[in-house]
Amino acid sequence: GQCRAVCPTGAIIIKNDNQKVWEAVHDKSKRVIAQIAPAVRVALGEEFGLNPGEVTIGKIVSALKTLGVDEVYDTAFAADMTVIEESKEFVERLITGENLPLFTSCCPGWVKFAENKFPDMVDNISTCKSPQQMFGAVIKEYYKNKDKKEGKETIMISVMPCTAKKAEAAREELQHNGIRDVDVVITTQELALLIREAGIIFDQLEEESFDMPFGLASGSGIIFGATGGVTEAVVTRLLRDKPDHSAKDILFSNVRGMDNLKEAVFNVDGKEVKIAIVHGLKSADKLIKQIKAGERHYDFIEVMACPGGCIAGGGQPVPMNTEMRKERAKGLYKLDRTSHIKSSEKNPLVMSLFEDILKDNHELLHVHKKAEAEV
Ligand code: SF4
Repeated sequence: GQCRAVCPTGAIIIKNDNQKVWEAVHDKSKRVIAQIAPAVRVALGEEFGLNPGEVTIGKIVSALKTLGVDEVYDTAFAADMTVIEESKEFVERLITGENLPLFTSCCPGWVKFAENKFPDMVDNISTCKSPQQMFGAVIKEYYKNKDKKEGKETIMISVMPCTAKKAEAAREELQHNGIRDVDVVITTQELALLIREAGIIFDQLEEESFDMPFGLASGSGIIFGATGGVTEAVVTRLLRDKPDHSAKDILFSNVRGMDNLKEAVFNVDGKEVKIAIVHGLKSADKLIKQIKAGERHYDFIEVMACPGGCIAGGGQPVPMNTEMRKERAKGLYKLDRTSHIKSSEKNPLVMSLFEDILKDNHELLHVHKKAEAEV
């Protein structure tokens, strides 16, 4: 009875996944942790009459707390981890020359598409888990001993702009001994529904900040939600020691925006690196065919399945048009501009995590995908 006309195929999913949230928050034996993806905070407000791009993160945190979630964290924190890992992987591949171009791995819509359509290119996809999955794996590890001591179980709920994130969380290689990195994925639309179900008046919520220690993200982590954002974050990281800011500015004016194919060239340690950014699977398909035909050459390629990137994901409020996409992206870039930490490796909490639990647990951040030619 709760499902809405906008979701003709997802009626049961919607009901079940919100039901899972309710069950988790009412179960005293569960430590319920939520993560919120960057794109959600610039779109959820539309469900409650606000303009696209309006940032409502404080109210979203507050709403999740009101629903009974114990700790609320920022997926952009995990995006900072992804930037560090993926940059490292990219530099290694640039040195060996193997499996180039490196394709980004944070969009499960794209990964699935590549597995089905271009199984011979699966090794080119980054082994980095997506931020959603990295976060789940790290949280489960972080609370492992405490859970055992307290007889609790940690449940990771993620709030995503995306329906493909549900399938990603359910993938077999993203669980260990039956424990999933992420237990429940709800979309922005589903969160709006939960808020209504709970009788919360969104407008009247007092803003709250993220919990610590995983609630602090850099601007780089936040812009993951818009097309070009991952590239910008990785390049910012690679050029961190290079004082040539004007080169960066030129570069970023190329990677931002809604063109189907964006390209940029820059130098890392005397080596020319060529990158491409595509969004929408049609553009990705076309580009890969050109690469296979030898017509184009790149070292790094960012692919997002949704035109515009995650800000325009299938779980976001509808209707949506180009203008709204631009406004949502603007919201993320504004957060980047006003954030205290500009690049991922300057996030002190991420860096201390790398020196602490990730030191001997690096595999928590990686996954080795297999081609499934199932078309
Ligand atoms: Fe999901 Fe679309 Fe973002 Fe890919 S681009 S992760 S399919 S919302």
